[in-house]
Amino acid sequence: MSQPFQTPIEYLKGVGLARAEVLKKELQIFTFDDLLKHFPYKYIDRTRYYKIRDIQPDMPHVQVVARLLSKEIVGEKHTKRLVAKAKDDTGIIELVWFQGIKWVEKTLMPGKAYILFGKPGFFNGSPQMAHPEMDLWGSANQQQRGALTLQPAYSSTKKLEQFTLDSKGLQKLIAGLLDQYAREIQENLPAYLLNRFKLIGRANAYRNIHFPNDAAQLNEATHRLKFEELFFLQLKLLKNKLSNNAKFKGNVFGTVGPYFNDFYHSKLPFPLTGAQKRVLKEIRTDTQRGVQMNRLLQGDVGSGKTVVALMSMLIAIDNGFQTCIMAPTEILANQHFQTISSLVGDGFVEIALLTGSVPAKKRRVIHEKLEDGSLKILVGTHALIEDKVQYQNLGLVVIDEQHRFGVEQRAKLWRKNVVPPHVLVMTATPIPRTLAMTLYGDLDVSVIDELPAGRKPIETLHYYENQRLRMFGFMKQEIAKGRQVYVVYPLINESEKLDLKNLMDGIEIMSREFPLPQFRISVVHGKMAAADKEFEMQRFIKGETQIMVATTVIEVGVNVPNASVMIIENAERFGLSQLHQLRGRVGRGAEQSYCILMTGPKLSNDGRIRINTMVKTNNGFEIAEIDMQLRGPGNIEGTQQSGVLDLKVANLATDQELLVLVRKCAEAILEKDPQLAHPENQLLNQNFQSKNEGLSWDKIS
Ligand code: ADP
Ligand code: MG
Repeated sequence: MSQPFQTPIEYLKGVGLARAEVLKKELQIFTFDDLLKHFPYKYIDRTRYYKIRDIQPDMPHVQVVARLLSKEIVGEKHTKRLVAKAKDDTGIIELVWFQGIKWVEKTLMPGKAYILFGKPGFFNGSPQMAHPEMDLWGSANQQQRGALTLQPAYSSTKKLEQFTLDSKGLQKLIAGLLDQYAREIQENLPAYLLNRFKLIGRANAYRNIHFPNDAAQLNEATHRLKFEELFFLQLKLLKNKLSNNAKFKGNVFGTVGPYFNDFYHSKLPFPLTGAQKRVLKEIRTDTQRGVQMNRLLQGDVGSGKTVVALMSMLIAIDNGFQTCIMAPTEILANQHFQTISSLVGDGFVEIALLTGSVPAKKRRVIHEKLEDGSLKILVGTHALIEDKVQYQNLGLVVIDEQHRFGVEQRAKLWRKNVVPPHVLVMTATPIPRTLAMTLYGDLDVSVIDELPAGRKPIETLHYYENQRLRMFGFMKQEIAKGRQVYVVYPLINESEKLDLKNLMDGIEIMSREFPLPQFRISVVHGKMAAADKEFEMQRFIKGETQIMVATTVIEVGVNVPNASVMIIENAERFGLSQLHQLRGRVGRGAEQSYCILMTGPKLSNDGRIRINTMVKTNNGFEIAEIDMQLRGPGNIEGTQQSGVLDLKVANLATDQELLVLVRKCAEAILEKDPQLAHPENQLLNQNFQSKNEGLSWDKIS
């Protein structure tokens, strides 16, 4: 925005030093520009009049035309108040003032018609309004209001109110700002975009988002500003992607050789799904271009990401490179090691496991084999990016469950080679497409949106606490069929002690209901030593125990195909994405699997929506969508602390269509004019440059 808008707020007429101070402190309004972008959080509709009979208890501010019947000061001292009555042709409303009583009393004229405006309440079953705004019907005020039918309401604070900067006060400042400077608001979108997308000009948009005449005007204004906001965001992300591509050279995986082919033709135990094939192709294309790949692979639990990762690794190996796959926990690293080893079979390729608990001697051997290049696949936890670990020729890094890894840890991987390895980040936390476009807008995103054939959808049931015996009965029935059962307790971060007690009580109840020697139970929780955890996990994996009682440590990636029942205790305490992750632990074998959500008798509104959603669908993307609607885009797992989501007007949950549109539009523009050098894109180039400053983006890798 041009010069005047960078002016410090104290220089605006009517502000001054003292008010500037509170504006800065309370609302982070430092400049004219900041004030201009302090948008109303709602609008009070003065476009319609309500009949007194139609007033309901939960209504927002409404306006009513009524004739004043009476006025009377009642009560003593603290209870003293002014009470007036007014009527229209449908009923009577009571008006009350607790302050400024004398002054208001003088101005009220019984017998006259007024426009009453305020938030209605009910007292003894009849409608009431406290401290209404009152304009005489037909007065100058009414005329004025005619021009301002949707009143903006601004968020303010107690502190600001002391400086008469309540919503009304802020409104005055903003009106003044616009009166003086609206003409200087410069357009930042080229005319061809305004025309094509029927967008109103920028100055108009700012004026009308603050002071719309009607709903249609407000819609036009917000649409224009949302467009601008999302468009520049996408333009920036896409431009970043282009320049990364230009900056970082990548290893070329030119051929597919015997490792891949042998595996594909004689070892792969099942046909790949269409989605798996598509993703492999995408990766294959990426890794042949001579540009470093940064790809995010999203796929629901059980969609078969591991095999895709492995086959990508085999291509790297075919081209003479080493690979590694990194998991967030030892349990998972172990599991990947087992899975991959058994998929490729003995003697096929040199593969090793490196975690914190690998003894020094073994570790040294691994280090040697990495340096001489003979070790081809290294599976591990963050131990495999420690400085001591030197690869001869690292070509591809696969990172499982990305959000558990810090940005820094990922960056470390880059420094392992002169040419950075290709990076494939896998996540089983599906995020809505629009969110991915924004959060990972500078990455390439692949999606496995198809489960392997023949998988039976998990059946999800909701039991209340008083149906616990039925739940036990069900567990016994399934165990009798040879199945295994998970029972998961929530971690309620407030108190670790309480959490543990919760779990311990649970274990006791389970041990009583499922006694030795007939039943055996594994227990895993966060407070256990890694070796004990591993021991307990292994007992369950080997089928020595039928029940695994755990906290959410088993959430991610654990694969025990014979486990077909997931019981989630206090399910109402879990977020949707976590419930979905947990449920994904079952349904991995041939058997029909079940998930039972146990809850107390009372559910909050959101809690009920979460439980019902889980019962209704198994689709992770659908669930992520609802999660985003419930919690807002900023609270979705994996999105925290992302500056990308600091949007002022647009909302990723509700403006998905627009986002898709602007992204396509930005893509098309950059495709034709990657440098934004054409004269018609001059405005974009300027504004893209200025948007670059002061913004910092979390790079994913
Ligand atoms: P994810 O990591 O995506 O949750 P996995 O890679 O662990 O899923 O795969 C889940 C299970 O499905 C594994 O037992 C795997 O062997 C199996 N699987 C993967 N792809 C297929 C396929 N195309 N057909 C049948 N089973 C598959
Ligand atoms: Mg997995």
